[in-house]
Amino acid sequence: LVPLKDHDPEMFDLIEQEKSRQWRSLELIASENFTSKAVMECLGSPLTNKYSEGLPHARYYGGNEVIDQVEELCQKRALAAYGLDPEKWGVNVQPYSGSPANFAVYTALLRPHDRIMGLDLPSGGHLTHGFYTYSKKEGTRKAVSATSVYFESLPYRVNPETGYIDYEQLDRDAGLFKPALIIAGGSAYPRDWDYAKFREIADANGALLMMDMAHISGLVATGEQKSPFEYCDVVTTTTHKSLRGPRAGMIFFRKDERGFENRINQAVFPALQGGPHEHQIAAVATQLKEVATPEFKVYSQQVKKNAKALADKLASLGYTIASGGTENHLVLWDLKPQNITGSKYEKACDAVCITLNKNCVPGDRSAVTPGGVRIGAPALTTRKMVESDFEQIAEFLHEVLQAALKIQEKSGPKIKDFAAALETDPELQSIKERVNKFA
Ligand code: PLP
Repeated sequence: LVPLKDHDPEMFDLIEQEKSRQWRSLELIASENFTSKAVMECLGSPLTNKYSEGLPHARYYGGNEVIDQVEELCQKRALAAYGLDPEKWGVNVQPYSGSPANFAVYTALLRPHDRIMGLDLPSGGHLTHGFYTYSKKEGTRKAVSATSVYFESLPYRVNPETGYIDYEQLDRDAGLFKPALIIAGGSAYPRDWDYAKFREIADANGALLMMDMAHISGLVATGEQKSPFEYCDVVTTTTHKSLRGPRAGMIFFRKDERGFENRINQAVFPALQGGPHEHQIAAVATQLKEVATPEFKVYSQQVKKNAKALADKLASLGYTIASGGTENHLVLWDLKPQNITGSKYEKACDAVCITLNKNCVPGDRSAVTPGGVRIGAPALTTRKMVESDFEQIAEFLHEVLQAALKIQEKSGPKIKDFAAALETDPELQSIKERVNKFA
């Protein structure tokens, strides 16, 4: 029982460095959060030692009498978190993360090369919803994730003018493409989802409807975003974003004559995964206990208020916010009018300890050179920041952008020269000192 510090000082030091980076910087990545001590304790518990292939009370290994209770508690709390009747809905809490959860649904409910429609990556969708890159020069199409290798995908998009999903185009395309599955949900969409519309389009074309609520699952649990459960056949989620749990995934399915329960459970194990990570499952369960508290409801409300305060402040400074604002936890900032790429601006923010990510914005021609950045409120709201803090953050972001534009003018178009110039820029140094103090 030698502590890590003594057993492996090198690794101990790396973890300390990362801890310090997380506290010193302003963490604005929309998919990240800070988990509680309770969640960390579950992750570092002896549950990690146990093999438990199978489902509660039907395992391939002995010694699972405690583990069965852990997993059942997680299932019970997961259904309760979304107000689901256990007679009508079931949940598999074993997916290691969001991507394997999505792939398990596809392999459970579709045949290889069936057709799917998900939100396009440059429109804010996720890689696992099916995405290709195209080479005009070579006239080729390349599947980027396993989803588009094994299934035929025709993505739908946001309207480049409004930034909202173009439901009319989706309707027309679905009528021609006849998908077996339509996927709602995304990674960079600042608006709520029209599930009734998705259902109507799915029904008109004999398609199943799945929602991947990974980004907004904490907001859905607290009623701060619409619930997809009334309309969808299947709902997947990660547990580490607005839900604030450990890294993991869950799949909710309707229990009916279509037999999704067996098909999904078997797709997770034995088709795609081996032994479940019960330490993760315990951590999800303990987070779901927190999600049910009034404090978590207040947290979710504050996440939305903070994102809105940031969007409003940036707009008041004259900047362009995709879709004109936000209804959830994230803001998409279109930097094209400022003539700087998202990649360069992300680097400039990194130089002052502000962590965010380059992102495609509506109207971008290619996912390779994103025209903006995605900024999220969940992590800093966990650190108790409120609207006035987010207005101050918008001021920092404004200062960084102005400094970055000056640097770009001097360093020229190459990102390598731009990045080198960031390191020595006195204006950025001064912003960094203030950011560190503020964080
Ligand atoms: N689905 C959505 C909408 C996501 O945004 C993400 C991750 O960012 C995933 C799935 C994949 O989750 P993971 O990274 O846990 O595999």
